[in-house]
Amino acid sequence: MASAEIIAVGTELLLGQIVNSNAAFISEELAANGIYVYHHTVVGDNPKRLKDVIEIAEKRSDILIFTGGLGPTEDDITKQILAEHLQKNLVEDAFHMNKITDYFASRNRTMTENNKLQAVIIEGSTVLNNDYGFAAGMFLKENKHTYILLPGPPSEMKPMFSSYAEPLLANDSAEKNILESKIMRFFGIGESQLAADLNDMILAQVNPTIATYAGDNEVVVRITATAKTKEEASALVNETEQEILRRDGAFLYGYGEVSLPELVTAMLLEKNITISAAESFTAGLFQAEIARFPGISKIFKGGMVTYSEETKQSILEVSPQIIKENGVVSAECAKEMANNVSRLCNTDIGISFTGVAGPDSLEDHPAGTIWIGLHVAGFETEAYQFVYGRDRNHNRRRAVKQGFQLIKQFLDTNR
Ligand code: ATP
Ligand code: MG
Repeated sequence: MASAEIIAVGTELLLGQIVNSNAAFISEELAANGIYVYHHTVVGDNPKRLKDVIEIAEKRSDILIFTGGLGPTEDDITKQILAEHLQKNLVEDAFHMNKITDYFASRNRTMTENNKLQAVIIEGSTVLNNDYGFAAGMFLKENKHTYILLPGPPSEMKPMFSSYAEPLLANDSAEKNILESKIMRFFGIGESQLAADLNDMILAQVNPTIATYAGDNEVVVRITATAKTKEEASALVNETEQEILRRDGAFLYGYGEVSLPELVTAMLLEKNITISAAESFTAGLFQAEIARFPGISKIFKGGMVTYSEETKQSILEVSPQIIKENGVVSAECAKEMANNVSRLCNTDIGISFTGVAGPDSLEDHPAGTIWIGLHVAGFETEAYQFVYGRDRNHNRRRAVKQGFQLIKQFLDTNR
């Protein structure tokens, strides 16, 4: 399978003035297309060093993707140097030339000569249109290598890559192979643990490839396989998927572009199960999350934010005795909050969040100690403890996701 190298050109990258986000974007896209990226290179706007980089890249990569240096100024040298290296001429692209001259004419502005440079391309290349700027991109195959030239500004580079470069790349590989990929989403396991569990598979991977990504309090695994037919590729993906499930299936919550809150609200809607929430340290985050989904009024009745001991008693009717005996960071308080909110809001499910968001400790519990209470009509109310780190807002978001996971586990096993 083809390997690619991303060559970001720009002295400001080397000086640390900007971060090489272009490489991150392109790498992710290539991974989704089953193209390996073995090297990211950053080089300044220097002709000699850029030439060296091209020569090194040609020895180790099939596809060379350049970003930056397509602009009109002196320091923009990427296509000039590559043309020189490939011993090719630079020629005008009529489409981009018209676009540039029209722009200046329509605004009654005089155009400096150097602007025309942006419409100059390497002879023999396929032009990649720039829908958000003037500099033309290029796609060129020469001596077994594919060269792709993209502008530096991400707002121009991303749409050019997705709309014009990716289809050409896919075309190339489609001649030989079909690509199939599957995304698996995990909650309750860290990326490092999951990667350790799959270590032997990741080390041995050729086809399918396995990539893990850390999301917002979740881990995503993407399996990508290539084969002559769709059936063969799917079979390869499924085999790897089954092995991953055998090892860490307990933490899987879904496939593809879904989120845990989205899955859970869909389940509640489908089963017509009503819900309310009593929130202390999450202060409404759970309810804000559930309200993101349209049609939710059918099952979401409301809830309360009871941040202090006083409001837990006055609004949520938590008994002073329970707080006095156990504190607010306790299973007893979490259960009482869940019971009371479902009674006061008249819902099937009542969920509660109480704990120490951090960074300071509370009632001698370290930051990150949290309790989630779950009342479901007809079942005994449960409380679950989790101990997270000290990062306050991370803990709040993680607890909310954990709440959705507890509801999902309940629905999966009990209905
Ligand atoms: P321009 O026509 O704007 O000069 P260009 O194709 O010549 O575009 P550069 O001059 O190299 O590109 O970079 C222009 C701007 O694009 C940079 O100032 C920076 O904001 C952004 N940029 C360039 N390279 C990258 C990169 N690798 N990652 C993220 N942003 C980048
Ligand atoms: Mg420039």
